[in-house]
Amino acid sequence: MNTSRLVPPVSDDPHALDELRREVRDFVAEYIADGRVHRQVDCWLTGWDEDFTRALAARGWLGMTVPSEYGGHSRSHLERFVVTEELLAAGMPVSAHWIADRQIVPSLLKYGTEVQKHRFLPAIASGDCYFGIGMSEPDSGSDLASVRTKATRVDGGWSVTGTKVWTSGAHRAHMFICLARTAPVDPAHRHDGLSQFIVDLHSPGVDVRPIVSMNGGHHFNEVILDDVFVPDDMVFGTIGNGWQQVTSELSFERSGPERFLSTFPLLAESAEQMRREALPRHTDVGRYVARIAGLHQMSTAVAGALGRHEPADTAAAVVKVLGTSTEGDIADFADLLTGDPSAEQADYAAMLESAVVQRPGFTLRGGTNEVLRGVIARGLGMR
Ligand SMILES: Cc1cc2nc3c(=O)[nH]c(=O)nc-3n(C[C@H](O)[C@H](O)[C@H](O)COP(=O)(O)OP(=O)(O)OC[C@H]3O[C@@H](n4cnc5c(N)ncnc54)[C@H](O)[C@@H]3O)c2cc1C
Repeated sequence: MNTSRLVPPVSDDPHALDELRREVRDFVAEYIADGRVHRQVDCWLTGWDEDFTRALAARGWLGMTVPSEYGGHSRSHLERFVVTEELLAAGMPVSAHWIADRQIVPSLLKYGTEVQKHRFLPAIASGDCYFGIGMSEPDSGSDLASVRTKATRVDGGWSVTGTKVWTSGAHRAHMFICLARTAPVDPAHRHDGLSQFIVDLHSPGVDVRPIVSMNGGHHFNEVILDDVFVPDDMVFGTIGNGWQQVTSELSFERSGPERFLSTFPLLAESAEQMRREALPRHTDVGRYVARIAGLHQMSTAVAGALGRHEPADTAAAVVKVLGTSTEGDIADFADLLTGDPSAEQADYAAMLESAVVQRPGFTLRGGTNEVLRGVIARGLGMR
């Protein structure tokens, strides 16, 4: 019998972490009641609030999976999952630490040197160090093998020159991990010759320019690197191994609760508006809740697999495709249902508007869904 499955099993007790969930809910409720934060959609990309980040750090909710010797809390991936899921479901402003905590932590633990781990992991866990991701370039997003940013060997390190684009948060982050070509393209092995560097975004030669979104928001940037010196101790992983490193990081980027909960606060508020009869009741609310519940199970299963160091690339891609489609469908559903919101619905209207504007990015960021369908097909042995 073929026992292979697309998504790993959820074998743990679903209520084992209820107490932790309750703690996070109480914490969030207190912050909302005090008016210190407000619910927003797409909060993990657009909700930058360093005070809130440090408050989470003080509770031990950043760097949860970082071993205590590096300033973290030695907790499990599933405990971290529960905390992030609750924060996203409530629409809390978490973007300041998001990339560092989600992606840089597991990468540093896997590929970082002792110097890098001791320098960055404690600072991430205390909410004092923020990172960006420097992969995409003009004409090089899905096809990262074609990146043109180049790093050349110089005395004591590397000199990096090129242009990165769509770099979320680069104008506020301290560092970013930059993918660059360190050897000329070999047409037979296009993914060889790429390397990663930890670049200080305040280094001489770095120019961060805003890319303003259509609603006037600023989270994207273009990052121009002109002969930027990166010392040897900031080479990330192994020179020439950039492609393998980048792809191994992607399961962490693709499968988390941020891939299905970006518009959950809007769904919850839509249901609340229906309860108050400010919106017409619609049975599709139940359908979306069911989709979210299924995605919660699948995403939890992938978090469990990552915690056990099992490969989860295909499953992560499945969560990303189904999750980001659901997020977008919720934005459309609320938009079609609402019509012209009344003055009393101002907060709801603001959330809705932001969901509609952010929607196109859901299925693009972290790898487009078209490309991920190819990843899934390959994982299933279909191509
Ligand atoms: C909100 C948001 C935040 C982002 N943040 C960051 C960030 O912080 N750092 C960073 O480095 N990047 C970031 N990005 C960039 C993102 O990773 C890229 O946009 C994405 O990888 C797609 O690349 P592209 O835009 O160059 O599109 P392209 O790769 O040019 O694709 C264009 C179209 O062609 C399709 N296509 C391409 N190749 C294939 C294929 N092989 N099979 C089928 N269809 C294909 C795509 O699906 C898409 O529809 C962000 C993007 C968004 C929307």
